This record gives sequence, structure tokens and C-alpha cells, in this order.
Amino acid sequence: MSDVPVIGVLALQGDVREHLAALAAAGADARPVRRRHELDAVDGLVIPGGESTTISKLVDIFELREPIDKRIAAGMPVYGSCAGMIMLAAEVLDGRADQRGFDGIAMTVRRNAFGRQVDSFEASVEIAGVDGEPFHAVFIRAPWVERVGPDVEVLGRVTEGPAAGRVVAVRQGNLVATSFHPELTGDRRLHRYFVDLVRAA
Ligand code: GLN
Repeated sequence: MSDVPVIGVLALQGDVREHLAALAAAGADARPVRRRHELDAVDGLVIPGGESTTISKLVDIFELREPIDKRIAAGMPVYGSCAGMIMLAAEVLDGRADQRGFDGIAMTVRRNAFGRQVDSFEASVEIAGVDGEPFHAVFIRAPWVERVGPDVEVLGRVTEGPAAGRVVAVRQGNLVATSFHPELTGDRRLHRYFVDLVRAA
């Protein structure tokens, strides 16, 4: 693979533009993915924040479910933030009965976990494998991770406030997920981490 990996952003719903900009700034050739042939052209994929129930429906309408599951099984790196984390979870609590994710990370996530009064909040999170300051993490109706399988590495937890200790970043092989939205804060370290992962894959 070239030094500039081609990374797609699943562009069905959610904050697609922000991820495209963050990936480009992190050294990728970033492209929206809505169609099968666009998926075939990428080395890695980002599933953005948005609304997982809507993304789940649109994945079926755009006939992308089986192709994405197959690419994941073949080792394609995928990074999901927030709704994207939910789409990568093997099990979802407080989901809609008909929402379905990909064959992704062996974890259980709880949707909208941080409480109904506090829809959004910010906290600092340290991510294993990412040097420097803790992340200034923005959570918007975010999930957290309640259980992980033995092959899942916990990369980060909330370090302060009422949600302290909650798992909000994980990795299993080439799949990475965060509850928060680094694409919204101008901190490109997580996108660089993912671009490096795609380059190495
Ligand atoms: N609550 C949303 C969901 O269930 C996720 C929110 C987000 O991505 N900011 O998909």
C-alpha cells in the first residue's frame, strides 16, 4: 500500500464531513462511501457519529451490510466513533429491537448511557498507544462499554466526574471504537493512530 492510505467514511448519516477533514489532516486520502464500488476502493473505513438506528437502516437500504461484514472478516481496519461504536458492537443494550450492527468487536455497549439529563458532557480521557496530553473528549448522547471479550483491549476510560472508570475506547485487532468524537475537537491524534493502523494492515 502507498504511504497515503485510502480511507472511506461511511456517508449515510452523521458527521461525515468532520471525519473526512480529520482523516485528510492525518495524512489519508479520505473519501465518502455510499456505494459498494466505493467500499471496494478503500483500505480502511470510519463509521461516524450520528444515529445508529438510522445508520443501521440505511446500511440495509444501500445494500452495504454484507459487503462491510465481509471486508471486516477479511481484516479491513474500521474506526467507529459514538454511533459508529454502536455499529461495531456485538451486543447493544437500550437499542431498538430492529437495529443491527456489523460482525465487529466482542463487546456490549449501552446506548445513551451517560444519562438523560446530561445529554452531552466533556471529560478527559487517556488513550493507550496515543502519546501526549489526555484527550479532551466530547460525549453527545454517547454509549459506554459495559463488557468486553477476552480479545478486546481497553484503550481508555473516563478519568473524572460521575462516569469515572467507564470504558470509552477499545480495540480488537484492526477494529477501533470510541464513545467520544475526536473529529469535533481538532485533535487529530486518534485519526493519525487509525491512519497508521491502516498503513500497517
Ligand atoms: N445516541 C446515538 C445512537 O444511538 C449516538 C450519538 C452520537 O453518535 N453522537 O446512535
